[in-house]
Amino acid sequence: SAPLSIVRGAGEAAGHGILMRTGEAFQGYRLAKRIVLDKTGTLTLGRPAVREIEAIEGTENELLALAAAAEVSSEHPLAQAIVQAAFEVDAVPPRVETFEAVPGKGVAARIGGENVLVGSPRFVAEQGINAASLEERIATLEEAGRTVIAVARERRLLGIIALGDTVRPKAREALAALRRDGVTPFMVTGDNERAARRVAADLGIEEVHAGVLPHEKAEIVRQLQSGGTRVAMVGDGINDAPALMQADVGIAMGGGTDIAIESADIIILSNRLEALPLAREISRRSYGKML
Ligand code: ADP
Ligand code: MG
Repeated sequence: SAPLSIVRGAGEAAGHGILMRTGEAFQGYRLAKRIVLDKTGTLTLGRPAVREIEAIEGTENELLALAAAAEVSSEHPLAQAIVQAAFEVDAVPPRVETFEAVPGKGVAARIGGENVLVGSPRFVAEQGINAASLEERIATLEEAGRTVIAVARERRLLGIIALGDTVRPKAREALAALRRDGVTPFMVTGDNERAARRVAADLGIEEVHAGVLPHEKAEIVRQLQSGGTRVAMVGDGINDAPALMQADVGIAMGGGTDIAIESADIIILSNRLEALPLAREISRRSYGKML
């Protein structure tokens, strides 16, 4: 059975909404030198909302309705925000014939016999769609921290939808406390580089890996472990599960997906990032008493 000090530590952590459920939660986390944090849903609330719409063809409401139609079967938070925005302006989505999600990129749907793509500007560019007319506008929005989603039909760009998320309260303070404790934070995100850098700068994070595809997060953790460096990973999404398992210590947000939670050593039930420095303090104290 676990030493009494560890049992007490687990109890103290639980009182702060932190579930420390493996030996690694106590032994590994207090020794971690690097912490990798997912952006959307971890550093931010993960509740994006539509902020700007720009239509090149048709009206803004038509663009929103078409995008919502393509996104209606997607569980992605960006998709849900687009569907919600369409609902709020009474834009009626056309009927969808087929739908396919492309993880880390967007969705492809067939609507009214035409092919519709909704996703990152990189995704539509990869499909050979020219976005030159909106390139500057996209750059400006992304530099302001927006996630820009492009909407295309039959190989023509119809417009863009810009979404914004909110940084979690106390995120900056929590990261500063970790840094004082000798832990370097890294951001990993599937979102675009410009928006990621903007959020990172607001939080005082210098190391950013953006445009990361779902399967690449675990590989980044593995690289950061080189030389035996202990790495903790914090995430909330399905995409984060392999990286949570690869890390020496996996930490999941309590509001995250089941698979992320199942993959973690520590679960932040409170969803408060202050838990990150606090869990180190608690585990260190537990050990101090034991030794
Ligand atoms: P994150 O790491 O930010 O959670 P994802 O890997 O889920 O990101 O997605 C990365 C990017 O791919 C998003 O920022 C967005 O540009 C695009 N994307 C993914 N899924 C969708 C979707 N359903 N609709 C529109 N864009 C999407
Ligand atoms: Mg996430």
